[in-house]
Amino acid sequence: MSIQEERLYYGDSYLQTFTSEVCGVRQNDEGYWVRLRQSAFYPTSGGQPHDIGLLNEAHVINVEADEQGVWHKVDTPLAMGDVVTGTIDFVRRFDFVQQHSGQHVLSACFEQTLKVDTVSFHMGDSVSTIDLDIAELSDAELERIEFEANQWIWRDVPIRARFVTPEELAQLNLRRPPKVDKDVRIVTIEGLEHNPCGGTHPSSTGQIGQIVITKTERVRGGVRVSFVCGRRALAYSRQLTDTFRALGNQLSVGLPDFVTTVEGLQTQLKETRKGLHDLKQQTAGLMARDVLQHAQNRNNGLLTLITDVGTGFDVNELKPMVGAVTELLEAEHRTPYLVALVGNQGDREFAAVVASEDSSLAANALLKEAFAIGGGKGGGNARTAQGSAPVVSGTHLVESFLQALKSLDGEA
Ligand SMILES: [Zn+2]
Repeated sequence: MSIQEERLYYGDSYLQTFTSEVCGVRQNDEGYWVRLRQSAFYPTSGGQPHDIGLLNEAHVINVEADEQGVWHKVDTPLAMGDVVTGTIDFVRRFDFVQQHSGQHVLSACFEQTLKVDTVSFHMGDSVSTIDLDIAELSDAELERIEFEANQWIWRDVPIRARFVTPEELAQLNLRRPPKVDKDVRIVTIEGLEHNPCGGTHPSSTGQIGQIVITKTERVRGGVRVSFVCGRRALAYSRQLTDTFRALGNQLSVGLPDFVTTVEGLQTQLKETRKGLHDLKQQTAGLMARDVLQHAQNRNNGLLTLITDVGTGFDVNELKPMVGAVTELLEAEHRTPYLVALVGNQGDREFAAVVASEDSSLAANALLKEAFAIGGGKGGGNARTAQGSAPVVSGTHLVESFLQALKSLDGEA
């Protein structure tokens, strides 16, 4: 039997059920595989994933082809000579048909209009891609190709597949030469192109439905174009519509004003953040004298100040406050000192530690001990250290510092 006769999808990509006989069985680590005298199941090849479906009650979960033929991985064993009814999951198949044939049309338009070659094709779970042999594509070029490709869909021209003789092959003006030297199958989109391909196609371009280019990116010196066709294009436009409607409600503006509105909001946010930062810096300076009241003289003569300054202070805002505190201490010649200020923002607590040059305790030693007690990470040197810890209910960073001081006090 010829390969054309064995693979029923070659002649009819709409065939959903068929009857055949098991003529090969094998079992490996992956499970049971069977080969049939004839099958409509498409094996993974040419960028198109395999079909799934049923052989009698057994689920077909993978399909691969080798030199012997098409192998169906089944979840239940079948025996040599079993007569089976095959059923293809046609929703999945037709989705692939739409994506695959859309790729033919898209690549042909790039080739004919822009003289750009398609070097590879990948069909993903949600999006398909082609890699183009060109360094750059403008938005105008993309829009033009997308429009042309959709015009070919609207024209609803016939798509035909046939096996050709070498003589017939020589007569055809092919976009790319066939990868096989026998059983060459040519897929013709009337008026657009002849293309060697073993894939499944609809009988006319109209069934591709629609082609939408969703993204482009530079990949390995070329351009990768992402696109969706048919049912996926509909799902994509539904998702966009839902997203934009939700955004429009949030922003209280219509689609044409989205970009300028968001730009305006970003500017406002930037200014607000800057204002808040400035305000916190001023507050830090004002709070320094207040904070200083918590300073304690230890037995060993070290002035320690460990306090929680509260919410809204991350490490960048604690630093100027520690600076202001130590400036006051230095001005009043109150050394040696060790200052640890704790604040929080969001779901983290932050700490900034400063020790005077003559302190018996190093800033990083205190920080390390506090994190060893209550968790957190950070670092520094003998004079300054900083770090943060996630807020965990029941434990507070300031408590860890006080405990750390106690345990280090004995050693110092
Ligand atoms: Zn094809």
